[in-house]
Amino acid sequence: MKFDELGLEPKTLKGVLDAGYETPTPIQEQAIPEALAGRDVLGIAQTGTGKTAAFTIPMIHRLSKGRAKARMPRSLVLAPTRELAAQVAESFEKYGKYHKLSMALLIGGVSFKDQEMALTRGVDVLIATPGRLLDHFERGKLLLTGIEVMVIDEADRMLDMGFIPDIEKILGLTPFTRQTLFFSATMPDEITRITQQFLSAPARVEVSRPAQTAETIRQLIVKMPKGDDALKRATLRRVIDDAGEELKNGIVFCNRKRNVDIVAKSLQKHGYDARPIHGDLAQAFRMETLQAFRDGELKLLIASDVAARGLDIPEVSHVFNFDVPVNSDDYVHRIGRTGRAGRKGTAVMLVTPNDDKQFKAVLETTGMKEIEEVDLGDFFETVDVSDKPRRGRSKPDERRRGGRGKKRAGEDEAAAKPQKAGAEAASEAKSEDEPQAEESRDEAKAQGSRRSRGGKGRGRRDDGPAMNHGDAVVGFGDHVPAFILQNEVRAA
Ligand code: AMP
Repeated sequence: MKFDELGLEPKTLKGVLDAGYETPTPIQEQAIPEALAGRDVLGIAQTGTGKTAAFTIPMIHRLSKGRAKARMPRSLVLAPTRELAAQVAESFEKYGKYHKLSMALLIGGVSFKDQEMALTRGVDVLIATPGRLLDHFERGKLLLTGIEVMVIDEADRMLDMGFIPDIEKILGLTPFTRQTLFFSATMPDEITRITQQFLSAPARVEVSRPAQTAETIRQLIVKMPKGDDALKRATLRRVIDDAGEELKNGIVFCNRKRNVDIVAKSLQKHGYDARPIHGDLAQAFRMETLQAFRDGELKLLIASDVAARGLDIPEVSHVFNFDVPVNSDDYVHRIGRTGRAGRKGTAVMLVTPNDDKQFKAVLETTGMKEIEEVDLGDFFETVDVSDKPRRGRSKPDERRRGGRGKKRAGEDEAAAKPQKAGAEAASEAKSEDEPQAEESRDEAKAQGSRRSRGGKGRGRRDDGPAMNHGDAVVGFGDHVPAFILQNEVRAA
């Protein structure tokens, strides 16, 4: 089937074809005709399957007729994180380029004032994270009684993040005559309950994972002699170096936000092209980092699970698991960032003696008996774990690279005398020694607990607190979708 056989209104079809797509993906082929017929859709699909277009295309088709009234958006898309919401907005811009649809994006980290101005003018498409949407609603700036179509994207992520009560509340504020398009990668009981309550005779469409992980991803582990973080950082550098030319770009996953920062700083100090992304960083920084990574201008993205969830980042050659994930499902999500669309990928995980239980859970979840071990020779006997970069060290690209498993006999490490860490490294080491106050192995949990504290500060909980506040639009750097700067876009 081709897009021109779906019965799309001509301008919508032209927008899709201009994006370079001819053939709908399986989820699009199944969901678009049902959505065009006005039915509710329950889509079971994950990122990478083309699900975003599966709901944006029929929405553009439907919204092409009619006009928005002040404060009464005609459609609503709920997404769990700011980045996902921004991705959905980009999708509307792309496929809706021949329409004059107005949009507003309600996410944390962007000023209320500008968002309110957009709402007051009236929007066809409102894209929001649940907390920020309810903040606007409670301020009386928004009516949801004009919603014709509503999308809930990544519902199972919303569940993980404690947003289900908000989703129920929002659904209750919209008219029951609305069309609901509901997407989730998995269907836990709680999600099934919501769909039974709020969807009306939905068409159920389901696609399997985009790629069988085992086929395209080479999975490896490094068995660490002890669970020392400085040693883990030195080992990470070694496996990155060993990846050599094969490493086009990689994501390093850590369990804690604090470790994300420490690992990113440490890599930078050693001359690697690395930047952190997690929920406590300012929105501007997060968006710029992500865009740089997508554009191939940043080689290593150091991430927490929540920050990386659902992000559409094509062609990642390597995933490095600095920590064994506490939740074994996260292992599958993490390594699923590589080896996409039939391409080859490599996933390397550092496993310490403290990780026994979690590692066993990973084996169970993946159905693997064991994971191939990387031979680092006498690395652990010779390594200098000091975080102080060695003097006169060349830039990473100029460094000699060894093949995986080849002994480098700790060449660089041995050359530098084991030394006490310098001032910077010492303070870093000190901070490592501090009690793990932020035991947010799972940021989602933290968000869930912020949530349970009640309504105040709601806007800050969608994806971690926003660091920048104020009246200016903050948070998108140079890569901000045009409509955010204008509050409203009339794509011509
Ligand atoms: P999603 O699952 O929505 O995150 O989409 C995954 C990727 O597939 C995005 O980069 C889309 O631009 C791309 N994509 C979506 N639909 C199609 C299509 N019909 N043909 C080719 N690529 C597509």
